[in-house]
Amino acid sequence: MEKNNDVNEKRCALCNKPYNYKYKMFGRGCLDNLYELLEISKPPKFIWNKETYLCTRIAWKNHKFFLNKNKKYALTQKYIALNYLNRMNCKFLDDIKEEISKDIKNISVFSRNIIDSISFKLNDIYKLFNDAQRFNEIIKDMQNITWEEVDEKIAENFIKSISFIFNITKKTNPISYAVFYSMQYTFWQIVVIGGMLKDKKLSAILLSNSLSLPGIKPKDLILQDSLTDKLLKDSKVFNETIKELIEKYGKEREMFDLKDYEKNGVLLKFEGGDLLYSLHKATMFVKARKNEDNTWNLEGDINDKYDFTEFKDLNEYADNKEEVLTDMLSTLLNNFGVVSSEYGVIKTYNVKIKFEFSKYKIK
Ligand SMILES: [Zn+2]
Repeated sequence: MEKNNDVNEKRCALCNKPYNYKYKMFGRGCLDNLYELLEISKPPKFIWNKETYLCTRIAWKNHKFFLNKNKKYALTQKYIALNYLNRMNCKFLDDIKEEISKDIKNISVFSRNIIDSISFKLNDIYKLFNDAQRFNEIIKDMQNITWEEVDEKIAENFIKSISFIFNITKKTNPISYAVFYSMQYTFWQIVVIGGMLKDKKLSAILLSNSLSLPGIKPKDLILQDSLTDKLLKDSKVFNETIKELIEKYGKEREMFDLKDYEKNGVLLKFEGGDLLYSLHKATMFVKARKNEDNTWNLEGDINDKYDFTEFKDLNEYADNKEEVLTDMLSTLLNNFGVVSSEYGVIKTYNVKIKFEFSKYKIK
């Protein structure tokens, strides 16, 4: 007999596997596990229906007595859901857990109907719990990686193994949204900022600023320090652009303000490394004044919108050769970044890098 198409086929509310035992909600394996999970001692031998016994014990634990069957089943599902959510240790779930707790409180002998402020399928919660467990395992391993030394293939496999957390379909449900938001947030904080970007300090600062908590807009950033100074002075693109501008506007003048000639500034497309990962379509303004020794005093700023979705252009002009992880970063991480932008984990803001160089020599 073909059982798969049977409309009356019972599926376990927790694991969704078919079962044909007398229980109403759970298969026998899951029921056994639930006793353990909820720390309820196993029923004595003479108890005929171990499922209703579990429901009764859960009701007692919640100080609820004389509930009818429907209420007991509803309470059990909510109680188990809450238990799994608590085990996920995710602060973004706090509001949802509170709602479920309230719904649990509202179940009583006298309550008219069962309130579902948060509706869920126990199986979805169970799957989320397993996703969170899997994520924790992978992230633990990833924290032990030295990204500068690791073989590219191994690094790529690690990153691929975690790609399941960048699942856009989980965004629509508030519970899975909270869990996936939290996993992505942790990924960017721990793996990317704490590991992969260790040698790209500016990128780490910018990404870090974009990861604000849910509902909070990141601050715009204005940066000017030894880090940004050094990055600019070492940048071929920066130096060549300054040289071109001085040849163009500084030949017949002792000083010029680029704004007077190009009101939109000039576009900088950085050649690689930290600046490339930080700034994608940066616009520069500069004022230059010539010194008697033919050096120049420069004062200016570079402006960009921190927007991960622009990472998709990176492949087009990135010179990957010198950096092992560049290629992987610019493909897999781009895609992750786009998804995290959709989730609102990575947020957009404006960046300004100011610089003031005196006695700058044209090379
Ligand atoms: Zn099951």
